[in-house]
Amino acid sequence: MTQNQIIVSPQKGLQKNEALVDIRQMISACIQCGTCTASCPNEFAMDLTPRHLWRMVLMGQSDDIFKSKTFFLCSACYYCTLRCPRGLPLTDAMMALKQIAANRYPKEYKSSVAFYQSFIKSIRKNGRVHEVGFINHYYLLMGNPFLPLKYASLGLKLMRKGKLSLRAPKAKQGIQNLEAIFRKVESMEADL
Ligand code: SF4
Ligand code: SF4
Repeated sequence: MTQNQIIVSPQKGLQKNEALVDIRQMISACIQCGTCTASCPNEFAMDLTPRHLWRMVLMGQSDDIFKSKTFFLCSACYYCTLRCPRGLPLTDAMMALKQIAANRYPKEYKSSVAFYQSFIKSIRKNGRVHEVGFINHYYLLMGNPFLPLKYASLGLKLMRKGKLSLRAPKAKQGIQNLEAIFRKVESMEADL
């Protein structure tokens, strides 16, 4: 798996419920207390709360799970993992759901995957997100020439307020260390 992939290809051949087996094991001790939902800073934007999502994983409701975008809204802050009274690896489980979704449902999750890939590419290149470069890469991956029009007025408004710059940030000190981390992760993922 490289920086541009969030896909574990061996899962491609798995049946829907087989793909969830490992994740179900990770969260099998869930007692539905709701602490994960109460801790999640992104819960307000999710279509399923984390607690609800884990319940559906336990019930094997693959069809409904992979209509949801909840796991793609997980920003891996680890609050839920730290606070879960059962000590469950919830952030890892969210990431595993992202991988299955990207792998098995590329059309349905095209926008989420393109967003993620563009974000990572921008961080790797600049040491932080360069908003204009990030969104241009996202548009490119989406391949819809009309998409930029949808956000044009917002982009202009932000530019007028000095919130967006066309110029990429200067490479910061330590960018080589960041690149070394990316390479290390890539080599670890290649061994999976
Ligand atoms: S915090 Fe842990 S035990 Fe509680 S609902 Fe969430 S996953 Fe289940
Ligand atoms: S790791 Fe993800 S699901 Fe858990 S609290 Fe953070 S954003 Fe929410």
